Amino acid sequence: SEVLLEELDHVGPATAQKLKDAGFTTIEAIAVSSPAELATAAEIGESTASKIILAARQSADIGGFETGDIVMERRKLVGKLSTGCTEFDEMMGGGIDTQAITELYGEFGSGKTQVAHQLAVNVQLPKEQGGLSGSVVIIDTENTFRPERIKQMVEGLSEKYGQEYDPEEFLKHIHVARAYNSNHQILLVDSAMELANELKDSDMPVRLFIVDSLTAHFRAEYIGRGTLADRQQKLNKHLHGLQKCGDLYNASVIVTNQVMSKPDAFFGDPTKPIGGHIVGHTATFRLYLRKSKGDKRIVKLVDSPNLPDGEAIISVTTPGLRD
Ligand code: ADP
Ligand code: MG
Repeated sequence: SEVLLEELDHVGPATAQKLKDAGFTTIEAIAVSSPAELATAAEIGESTASKIILAARQSADIGGFETGDIVMERRKLVGKLSTGCTEFDEMMGGGIDTQAITELYGEFGSGKTQVAHQLAVNVQLPKEQGGLSGSVVIIDTENTFRPERIKQMVEGLSEKYGQEYDPEEFLKHIHVARAYNSNHQILLVDSAMELANELKDSDMPVRLFIVDSLTAHFRAEYIGRGTLADRQQKLNKHLHGLQKCGDLYNASVIVTNQVMSKPDAFFGDPTKPIGGHIVGHTATFRLYLRKSKGDKRIVKLVDSPNLPDGEAIISVTTPGLRD
């Protein structure tokens, strides 16, 4: 909705015009921006930018309140999804949390999709084997979901536990949708929620939501400084939709985010993930994946509300992720 930005404290007509020219046309867009970004866009100091963002957040009524006892009840249910790797699980305090978004970021080929596939398998296992006895929903934006890879990983489980697992059964509990553009991707979260609702009381409720890749369409579609605010606002809403899925169904949420190998004038620092601070602030856990020798990958926990930063080494092998 078109609003008068001048109504915000610290925003005069000149600043309002500069903000609009830079694509910050709504209070919400300002509310979810970073001080540095806003300062550059409006040619103002960062401290003024911070005050404007705060005013926008208050005005947009971002977020809402619930009482501590309700939060506590929900927190008691937090589950842990095992990665199948000892060090990785330990770094995560036992596994990937439910009711949280975990972002996997790294360069092309660093193993983000492999981790996603392994979790899609593991989530179906019973608790004793590190699973959540649940189904998985995958929003696939790059057409990289491979049932053949799932089959290999399930066969890997049979090897690991000396027990027969049926790949067909595992494939039946993986619900995949291709997303053709960012709008479609966002709409698919609603469909994912409907599906989770349908399966809620079944013997395999949805316990994992995966968006692989979260940022590819956004990156391709939003080119040029003028649409930056719009992109971040959409991405932010998308992430909040996913967080809601995680909370409502006590599910883990995994999103992947590719780091560019080449510097890019628009997206800035090549070592920073695409989506920048918007993903960073909304994702609860951030994992940076990078290649090491052979099939080894280094997983670094970059940001966590309750765990120390750390590193774990995993191997991506044909039967799946291993120590
Ligand atoms: P990205 O981070 O781009 O999603 P991927 O998760 O697709 O990267 O990782 C691709 C890498 O995973 C390959 O380069 C290879 O090292 C490994 N990989 C993929 N499939 C297999 C397989 N069937 N067996 C062993 N390693 C595999
Ligand atoms: Mg991938």
